[in-house]
Amino acid sequence: RLRWPALVAVGLLLALLLHGAARSQPAVVLADAQGVTVTQGVALLVEEAGTVLTREQVMEPAFASRWQSHAKQRINLPRETRPIWVRFDLENRTPRDDWLLGVDWPMLRSVALHQYDPQAQRWLASRHAELGRGVDGNVSRGPSFAFALEAPTGRPVTLLLRVVPISSPMVPITIRDAASWGAERYDRGVLAGVLFGILGVMLLYNASLLLFTGDRSYAWYTAYLVTVIAYELVTTGYGPLYVWGTNDWMNTYGYGVSASLCFLFASLFFRQFLDLKHCGLPHLLHMNSAFIAFWIVALAWSLRPSAHFYGAAALVGALSGFVAIYSSVRLMWRGNVSARYFTLAWSALVVGTFAMLLSVMGLTQGNLLADYGQHIGFAVETVLLSVALADRIRRERHAREQARQETLRLTRHLQAEREQKIVAQAHALAAQREANEALEQRVQARTAELERANEELGQLSITDALTQLHNRRYFDEVLAREMESSARTGEPLALLLVDIDHFKQINDRCGHLAGDEGLKLVAQALRATAARTSDLVARYGGEEFALVLPGTDAAQALDLAERARRAVEAVAYVNRGERIALRVSIGVIARVAEPAEKAAVFLAAADAALYRAKSAGRNRVELAGAQPVPAAAP
Ligand code: GH3
Ligand code: MG
Ligand code: MG
Repeated sequence: RLRWPALVAVGLLLALLLHGAARSQPAVVLADAQGVTVTQGVALLVEEAGTVLTREQVMEPAFASRWQSHAKQRINLPRETRPIWVRFDLENRTPRDDWLLGVDWPMLRSVALHQYDPQAQRWLASRHAELGRGVDGNVSRGPSFAFALEAPTGRPVTLLLRVVPISSPMVPITIRDAASWGAERYDRGVLAGVLFGILGVMLLYNASLLLFTGDRSYAWYTAYLVTVIAYELVTTGYGPLYVWGTNDWMNTYGYGVSASLCFLFASLFFRQFLDLKHCGLPHLLHMNSAFIAFWIVALAWSLRPSAHFYGAAALVGALSGFVAIYSSVRLMWRGNVSARYFTLAWSALVVGTFAMLLSVMGLTQGNLLADYGQHIGFAVETVLLSVALADRIRRERHAREQARQETLRLTRHLQAEREQKIVAQAHALAAQREANEALEQRVQARTAELERANEELGQLSITDALTQLHNRRYFDEVLAREMESSARTGEPLALLLVDIDHFKQINDRCGHLAGDEGLKLVAQALRATAARTSDLVARYGGEEFALVLPGTDAAQALDLAERARRAVEAVAYVNRGERIALRVSIGVIARVAEPAEKAAVFLAAADAALYRAKSAGRNRVELAGAQPVPAAAP
């Protein structure tokens, strides 16, 4: 508070020394159709706190010493919050008199214009405009302050402006003709509409994504967009013009609060989205934390704004921008893809803000894009950050899709393996079953073979190898059985003993092999004769055969014996071209066997009959006596 009056005193002294009295300042001259930007020849007077001066008071000679000339390009009083008087003389050397005076800074609480005709020493018309309310006299609709001037050609007028600032006031004064002013305002309106349109769409888009995804990044970004829009409404003047009008709270605190929140949410979004906690660069996280802390304090501070607040906020705000760019670049180098968008986004905002500051400072005057640099920067920035979010969704979805594909691949792999195992098991089972079946078949075949072999063996054991008739052993069994049966049933049983006549001679003459052949032929003949299934034809031994004929009485037995003798007689037995006669003698016994009668008895009787046949001249049949012969008899 001490510094300011000291500065004023020094300034005043310098002004007096260099320019003489304030009164001697040169007038602002309107010389051509372009109008003029008021930069020179301006004097300023700051109202003391608590006093409200009138136009008459400030024009009094007593105040002359309090006026100070302002040599800067633009009237820019960053630390002032008290009402400011601006004074300059205007000389209109053009033929037209439809000039407008514009104060192109929307964040002023009110601006009043007073015009004085020094020649006539009288006050001309006064105009008054208030933030959010427009101008009394309705010059043009728009967020800037614009007043119609009474500046007739060739008549100098003194202009007095009383400006009530909100914060860090700028008082950029231009004098333009109504038509060109209107045209430029129109362009500004369109540009502002486009920028707000972009911001609005970004807000709706990201708010809906927040709703659908619930992602915290979208929460911070949506909050950021809301505060950006609020900040833009404040700084462009469209907020008071269209949204909240003369709402004192908004017009007083809107700037500080929205700026603080803007930076706060940007920092939170930055921290969340770029995952500063796990980015591996702890100093970025610490700086971010420091900024978040500052902007929380600034938010509280903005409710009791002072020149210090605006100064600190501007400083930290600028620092934030550079640190954000630095952090984004560092993260970009570490391979964070999203950081690319952030670098571009913050750069756009910082560049835009600087363009606007240059314009505000009067270095790039009259350039619409530069004037709106910060607003354009915000639009570009928000779009880029939106793209960063969308890009992250895309990359996350891509990663998810890849993970899903991998899972699917693994699942398929497992499935295939399982199927292979099942197939292998089935194969093993089938092979085992086949092996079992083969084994079983072999066992069955072997069993059948064995059975057949057994049967053959049995057959062999009761068969005579040479003649294929039953052998002596079997004959003994059958005879004994049939004798028992005959005794039991009372059926007669016949036994025939057949002996080949002079067989020794055949052997001797023709050889044993031919003899064997003769034996076979006799066997066949006997077999053919005794054809009943119950008849048994056996080789008894050597050249002797025996026939057991159940149910056969003596007459039948004799008849059969006779037929057998003749059958043998008829055999065509040829050896070395010579027919050899085969003859047999047959002993027959035929009767009902006695119970428990020995086979030997029958045999002896038959043998006796055979002996008789031999004795009687051979080639004949003899029947044994009807009476049983005792077994002991020879
Ligand atoms: P008979 O009219 O008195 O019966 O005279 P035989 O020569 O037939 O009587 P003998 O009992 O003296 O001779 C039987 C002969 O039968 C003796 C033997 O050489 C022959 N013989 C016995 N068994 C076989 C045989 O299996 N094969 C051959 N080729 N000869 C046999
Ligand atoms: Mg014999
Ligand atoms: Mg014989």
